[in-house]
Amino acid sequence: MEDKQEILNIAKNCLNCKHKPCQNACPMKTRVPEFIAKIKEEKFDKAYDILLENNTFSNICSTICPQEQQCEGSCVRGIKGEPMPIGRLERFVNDWAKENNYIYKMEEKKEILNKNVAIIGSGPAGISCAIELAKMGIKSVIFEKDEKLGGILRYGIPDFRLNKDTLEHILESAKSMGIEMRTNVEFGKDISLKELQEKYDAVFLGIGAETPSTYKLSDEDYPSIYKSDYFLKKYNEKDYINNLGTTVVIGGGNVAMDCARTAVKMGAKKTYVLYRRARENMPARDIEIEEAIEDGVEFNYTTKVIKAFGENNKLTQIECIKTVVEERKSG
Ligand code: SF4
Repeated sequence: MEDKQEILNIAKNCLNCKHKPCQNACPMKTRVPEFIAKIKEEKFDKAYDILLENNTFSNICSTICPQEQQCEGSCVRGIKGEPMPIGRLERFVNDWAKENNYIYKMEEKKEILNKNVAIIGSGPAGISCAIELAKMGIKSVIFEKDEKLGGILRYGIPDFRLNKDTLEHILESAKSMGIEMRTNVEFGKDISLKELQEKYDAVFLGIGAETPSTYKLSDEDYPSIYKSDYFLKKYNEKDYINNLGTTVVIGGGNVAMDCARTAVKMGAKKTYVLYRRARENMPARDIEIEEAIEDGVEFNYTTKVIKAFGENNKLTQIECIKTVVEERKSG
């Protein structure tokens, strides 16, 4: 856990801006000036309450959100100097709560409404939906097709980016609110929409972005061309892909960085990221790129993969072209 005095020194720089640009830039509308004000007063429990009241996933968001593009990217302090390190402050408050066994007590809804909702998917959308319904006194059942709960938080984000204990903690809190969770039940196969509509008052589909962005590299389907969701799931299930050899990851976003680092950890001989534009155009967070470089991943910018070739069902070569990044003309 970070040094308390250092955090207090940082927090006092917050200007408590009236128009809250940091808060408005947050997709969850985290009450940034308010929780920082509580840090200034050394009321870390109150800061934690403010964060959790608004967002069950505060701990996860403080770790994996691109703050530099959202809250920190809009911080007034950043106009002339460094923005407030909002993610770091949010992480500190979450670490403090963990270290001090402080639990946020959700407001109990005394009156339980006679309603029941079916939720498909136990990822962040499904869990958030179930918790918000529980706060309103509405019962829900989550149906998950996988063996374990968590969706992208469990199978899509590698453990070196998100500690799975954090997820378990959230799931336990949800269960303690009476939310029922059923695994190994696939929507459209084991249960249909019609069945659910007959049994429940409402159905919420929290199935996430199921189709990864991809393009065809070859007329043949080489088994060693993987889609990112499959690749990351294998790693997260500890069912490592053996003999990866030299591995090429196409793309420049955070998922590409996760795949590249995951390839290294699964034993790839050498891992390259091929990205069609320049480093400054990469959508991945700087920290993700830096950590990939630290892990030994090599980057080839302005490189577009055109075609893949192979022999005996094995990928042997890829054909690339060099690209030129042109400044977009305005006006
Ligand atoms: S914009 Fe920056 S300085 Fe202003 S309230 Fe938000 S965090 Fe504080």
